[in-house]
Amino acid sequence: MLPPVVTTIAEVRAAVGAARAARQPISFVPTMGALHEGHAALVRAAKARTAVVVVSVFVNPTQFGPKEDFAKYPRTLDADRALCGDAGASLIFAPSVAEMYPENSFTSVEVGTLGDHLCGAARPGHFRGVCTVVLKLFNIVGPAVAHFGAKDFQQARIIGQMVRDLNVPVDVRVEPTVREPDGLALSSRNRSLSSTERAAAPAIYRALRAVRARALAGEVDAARLEGALHAELSAIPGARIDYARVVDAETLQPRARLDRPAVVAVAVFVGTTRLIDNIRLAD
Ligand code: AMP
Repeated sequence: MLPPVVTTIAEVRAAVGAARAARQPISFVPTMGALHEGHAALVRAAKARTAVVVVSVFVNPTQFGPKEDFAKYPRTLDADRALCGDAGASLIFAPSVAEMYPENSFTSVEVGTLGDHLCGAARPGHFRGVCTVVLKLFNIVGPAVAHFGAKDFQQARIIGQMVRDLNVPVDVRVEPTVREPDGLALSSRNRSLSSTERAAAPAIYRALRAVRARALAGEVDAARLEGALHAELSAIPGARIDYARVVDAETLQPRARLDRPAVVAVAVFVGTTRLIDNIRLAD
């Protein structure tokens, strides 16, 4: 069934108010639209927890840098609605930029050191934008549970920290990355890849798996693992590494040795498309 699409905060509040009055907890899946199976998996995970599932579709301008692809980001609301309906969503909130950021909006969420690394270093202000919009959406929707994807590992970690630090009463769940059969992580940005770039892109995940295999075989020196990773990623035709790091899974800080749970996180431009992916090393 096609879920209704509402565009104003007042409409969402009315809909979720009715659910809450009926003592029905709400699950929430925030997205920027251009939805794919990775998002569908989040909606299905949400539906497995609560009967009422709200999906937001909002391309958030405050998380894009001045030279990034905000204007070009794909907008496919009709297809998004069909996908959400198939996955069991109850309601879609698709606000305008003016609805979310009326004139004279000043306040934002300061992320702290977790936002200094990886994508945060490459995209200054990105996580401030992400956390601010997610907190606003939490306050609008009032969910008990919110679902995020492991593909955006740093984002999930930062939002988990935000709800803890700011006592936001939302249970943040992180769902596994959904991949194409050849290993490429599903992403709304994959549709920007040319056929040659698309053919090259699965090598990113192969490189991550190769690093994990080295770590499982006993390599604990992060610099050597990163060296091998850089070599593999540099060999991908048309690819340019933005970052490729072995970091502490909790603090996101670089580590010299793998003596705590670690994550290998990469951002790679394939042509002009920036793809991110990550793999957790054995705990
Ligand atoms: P997006 O709209 O793509 O920025 O992301 C919305 C949510 O979907 C975020 O929590 C992402 O981590 C999640 N997501 C995006 N791609 C995937 C994927 N391939 N597998 C699982 N979750 C994903």
